[in-house]
Amino acid sequence: MALLEVRDLSVTFKRKGVRPFTAVDGVSFDVEPGRTVGLVGESGSGKSVTALAIMGLLPKRGAEVGGSVRFEDTDLLTLSDRQLRDKRGRDLGMVFQDPLSSLNPVIPIGLQITEVLERHRGMSRKQASGEAEQLLGRVGIPDPTRRLSEYPHQLSGGMRQRALIAIALACKPRLLIADEPTTALDVTIQAQILALLSELVRDTGTALIMITHDLGVVAGLCDEVNVMYGGRIVERAERHALFAAARHPYTHGLLESIPRLDAPRGEKLVPIKGSVADNIPWDSACAFAPRCPNALDRCRQVRPELLPDHGGMLRCHNPVGHAVKQGVRA
Ligand code: ADP
Ligand code: MG
Repeated sequence: MALLEVRDLSVTFKRKGVRPFTAVDGVSFDVEPGRTVGLVGESGSGKSVTALAIMGLLPKRGAEVGGSVRFEDTDLLTLSDRQLRDKRGRDLGMVFQDPLSSLNPVIPIGLQITEVLERHRGMSRKQASGEAEQLLGRVGIPDPTRRLSEYPHQLSGGMRQRALIAIALACKPRLLIADEPTTALDVTIQAQILALLSELVRDTGTALIMITHDLGVVAGLCDEVNVMYGGRIVERAERHALFAAARHPYTHGLLESIPRLDAPRGEKLVPIKGSVADNIPWDSACAFAPRCPNALDRCRQVRPELLPDHGGMLRCHNPVGHAVKQGVRA
């Protein structure tokens, strides 16, 4: 049985005087222990809102959440705030894109970790600082003893993200959600953080949901990939299948916009024309149709459903039938 089963998750933002906006609609996927599942898509496709809904971190007022998020035998959506906080402290961890805004600027790093250890794992102050030091070492922070007493601003961006991962790991989460954890970092540090996450999944059996707009990150880390567009999953595939023979024209567009090391110099990237904001609603059409090179009349008239396809899932009336040139080898 899966550790996490997300079923028909939907999030609608409602504000007075503004038309309700459904940011996530009918999203379903599973995560097994020790597996990394990717949520991929351009900015605005609903990835972060999906993560926040799973973690129960959306504002109670103004965000209507539907469907279910079963973690082991509990539907997280039915828990009270208190029960949820407890669950987050014990079983669920989250790492955000911007470590500086997730760390408390006026509390030393060490204290931010020991707090979690004391509160959620019942450790004494002394046990906790020993464990905090170990955690910092484990995420690759050199000289952890000294770093414990430093404040977030004294650490580099990469070190801060490592510290944030250490805090997330302090409660030994069974499920970790990383939302664009490397987007703000330079490429070398990015690779190190990804290697760290992959090692953690391997060594601890933690389930990881990896949120990214970067298919390069997917290639290096994910077992399975869910491609999101306009708040819905449009394609799901095992990583190798996705890179070998993506079926959705949107996924193709994403793959072709990856910079290639072997491309002739000066060759331009192929971004997908248009933007998510050009959407027509999913109600009576495919939301990607206005940008889609494969679009048929049917795509503008009938909403495609997510259906089994070649061992994965696909929401498309006119998929790509053949393997194309790829930017990244899986
Ligand atoms: P991304 O895939 O880039 O993470 P998000 O999940 O953050 O996208 O956002 C999906 C959509 O939901 C966007 O159009 C965003 O503007 C909208 N959205 C996110 N949070 C809120 C909110 N609190 N109120 C209203 N709309 C929101
Ligand atoms: Mg986001």
